[in-house]
Amino acid sequence: MGYCFDKEGFNQVLQELAKEYVVYAPKRFKNGGSFSDTDRIRYGEIQTVEEIVFDRKSDYSFKEILLPLSQTLFFFTEDAVKEANPPKKGAVIFLRSCDLHAVKRLDAVYLENGGEDYYYKRLRDKVKFVLMGCRHSFENCFCVDMETNRTDAYDAYLEIKSGKVYVDNHNEAWEAAFAAQSTETSEVIPAYVTKNENRVHISDGMTLDVMHSKMWDEYDSRCINCGRCNFVCPTCTCFTMQDIFYTDNGKVGERRRVWASCMVDGFTEVAGGGCYRKKNGQRMRFKVLHKVYDYKKRNGYHMCVGCGRCDDICPEYISFANSINKLADAIKEVSTNAGK
Ligand code: SF4
Ligand code: SF4
Repeated sequence: MGYCFDKEGFNQVLQELAKEYVVYAPKRFKNGGSFSDTDRIRYGEIQTVEEIVFDRKSDYSFKEILLPLSQTLFFFTEDAVKEANPPKKGAVIFLRSCDLHAVKRLDAVYLENGGEDYYYKRLRDKVKFVLMGCRHSFENCFCVDMETNRTDAYDAYLEIKSGKVYVDNHNEAWEAAFAAQSTETSEVIPAYVTKNENRVHISDGMTLDVMHSKMWDEYDSRCINCGRCNFVCPTCTCFTMQDIFYTDNGKVGERRRVWASCMVDGFTEVAGGGCYRKKNGQRMRFKVLHKVYDYKKRNGYHMCVGCGRCDDICPEYISFANSINKLADAIKEVSTNAGK
């Protein structure tokens, strides 16, 4: 059912939702950007629709709500273990189509990849999604070629036009709250983009032979293995474990899982001093082929959703979209070298 609200009315709806959920949306963090006097757009709790940033892509994704950057799993003493409490409330997350497609990737990894992750599931079961439409493409987006520019897998869709809030609601449990505050019912059709300036083409005939291409060598020197591309990516899911021992009693502490990055030193170090991917080019190769080759072999669709955040954030101006587009030449190069 579609509804129209004035902003005050919709803020009443948010207050109603806040009884059961923490509501998260992309917000402006003043002077929080990488350069002086620039803002950062990232996820935070909101109380009013005015706090939501619609006119910029968020620098970081919604991922940090479902998979906190640092999450305590349990506490331990010498002879007891106590599980960390689950969040008291569920979460409502405002996000765009590419990011809602990214949720499907997170679910595939944490719920359908050989058993369910207990901590992910206990939060995921209480999360609802509100889609934010895109009337135009942002810089570096390539969602259309990744087929993530559209979705109807939302609980509600929201957009603001001429100072009014328009909502298409799919969640029966929310009907009463919406109906009580709306000024009128209205047909609301989600906005989505049909083209991006940034285009990618993923070659169908790719095989793992492409790992032997010289294209990866370029990244040995260009990439500085900072890991920023992984941290902004809504589909990067790796973490590491940390046991923290408290200073006042060294036998008591907590176990946390903390985001990890396949681009930084230490990620592939193993016992005995081994390291599987020492060079930055090897790490780039792993990341690119995981996002647009081997994940698809297992799941039937690509891991990358084309949000372009990795291109936005890279301090070395390395374009992930360009890396994808270079694969076609890399395939030819390895075939020629193999005399195929
Ligand atoms: S953000 Fe750029 S420089 Fe940093 S690890 Fe990723 S590709 Fe390398
Ligand atoms: S690899 Fe880059 S473009 Fe693809 S989903 Fe991750 S951040 Fe977005």
